Amino acid sequence: MTLAFDATARKVDDARMFIDGGWTAAGAGARFPTVDPNTGTTIAEVPRGDSADVDRAVAAAKRVAVEWQFTDAIARAGLLRALAAKVTEHADELARLEALDSGHYLAKAQELVGAIPLWLDYWASAADKVGGRTIEVPGNKLSFTILEPLGVTAHIVPWNYPLLILVRSCAPALALGNTCVVKPAEDTSLSALKFAELVKEAGFPDGVFNVVTGYGGEAGAALAAHPDVAGITFTGSTETGKQVAKLGADHIAQVNLELGGKSPTIVFPDADLDEAVEAAVQGFCSHTGQVCVAGTRLFVHADVEKDFLAKLSARLEQTQVGDGFAEGTQMGPLVSQKQFDRVNSYIEIGKSEATLFYGGGRPEGTPEGGYFVQPTVFTGVDNSSRIAQEEIFGPVASVLSWSTEDELVEKVNDSIYGLFAVLLGKDVTRLLSTARRLQVGGVMINDWFGELPMTPHGGHKQSGTGREEGLEAIHGYTQVKHVAINLDPLRAATDWAGAPL
Ligand code: NDP
Repeated sequence: MTLAFDATARKVDDARMFIDGGWTAAGAGARFPTVDPNTGTTIAEVPRGDSADVDRAVAAAKRVAVEWQFTDAIARAGLLRALAAKVTEHADELARLEALDSGHYLAKAQELVGAIPLWLDYWASAADKVGGRTIEVPGNKLSFTILEPLGVTAHIVPWNYPLLILVRSCAPALALGNTCVVKPAEDTSLSALKFAELVKEAGFPDGVFNVVTGYGGEAGAALAAHPDVAGITFTGSTETGKQVAKLGADHIAQVNLELGGKSPTIVFPDADLDEAVEAAVQGFCSHTGQVCVAGTRLFVHADVEKDFLAKLSARLEQTQVGDGFAEGTQMGPLVSQKQFDRVNSYIEIGKSEATLFYGGGRPEGTPEGGYFVQPTVFTGVDNSSRIAQEEIFGPVASVLSWSTEDELVEKVNDSIYGLFAVLLGKDVTRLLSTARRLQVGGVMINDWFGELPMTPHGGHKQSGTGREEGLEAIHGYTQVKHVAINLDPLRAATDWAGAPL
């Protein structure tokens, strides 16, 4: 089966879930609409999977888990490389689907899909290189560890980077011998279904990779709670992440959480202000601010604040907001009516807490029915205010002034989140000294965030646990088995060269 996608009409017919290598409706027959955020019109009806559908998918993934674990790593790698080639072959359709469903503007969606094979190749290359270690122990014994897959892994994916986030967790999971059940976000299921089609074409055995579409509180919760799910990777809000962790705890699943953020972009007084403004704008406007690492707190040194703000408004004037399929668009819509209402409610909160410096409304000329907002900046923001503390997930930034590093570090760290920070300046000693004091999982100096398969990504504090990407991600998809062989005749119980347990 192929997903029936008419890119010109912006419609998808016959969207079905992918379970055990086959295409299926929800067992209960229910469906729900997914919309084009550029226009608010329905583009597809997607199966509303429930706990019975999750049971079917987990059972399939469990049935083949041992066979997949003991498939040669080199063969698993070969399948991942075949999948990478399929993604490249179908990149244009995948990008159009992603743009239509999630609101990424087309050029950005093409860039994102174009990068997906990097993740598949990276983990294909890792598949036959990951291993345990030998351990020096007393006596004539050989002691070593084996890294083994967890078994069935659940991947609960958000709507902001649907395909990239699916791939960044499923690629290591599959490479390291786990089977996968994916629950895409209800707003953005389509690229996951197209990807499943490519998984099948690439030749993965039935049951190794499954996609159950549906609502978070139904299919998502049932998947996290399933006793046969040994590992859960969740990306999304801190609030839902806590619920998922609790569901996983009931059956002691290993849980990786990549959660929210309220990341700082810090402008030092010696920064090149044009570059600082560029990094700041990318930081809070990329994908319309719907990025976990979005730099929504702009900490600008008091000495350069006036000049920075003048350059910032001039730069924002040039940002082209509009239909993601229109030529030249640099910022598309928010993903849904729910997020549109949420972001606008925070803009109203900001107006009551601080001074509106830029934006705050609907951009002129944007399509009727689409979920568009202007880039919005508040000044005179108190660090304890809601707009400075809560994740908005829209293109809304707060400018906070600072004078000393001590004051800066205290304010930056005064957050429940600790995902990421951008530092802009020239004095490397000053930049690195500050970077070391920030309670965050990642720091970028003189650049904005760039996601890569080889660099670890994740948060401190309530921004998450575990790491996606990089070799650090291996720990999220494996468990340790220790093996020891005694090479001498067995000694008497009173003569052990170790603790006599
Ligand atoms: P959620 O965190 O609720 O959703 C993320 C994923 O979890 C989706 O697949 C969702 O399914 C699923 N889910 C929802 N509830 C449950 C549950 N009880 N058990 C298992 N899975 C569940 O994010 P929202 O879509 O509600 O967005 C709200 C806010 O979350 C945003 O404004 C933003 O602040 C934050 N967010 C952060 C992201 C990040 O990258 N850190 C990404 C997305 C959102 P479904 O879509 O069907 O609800």
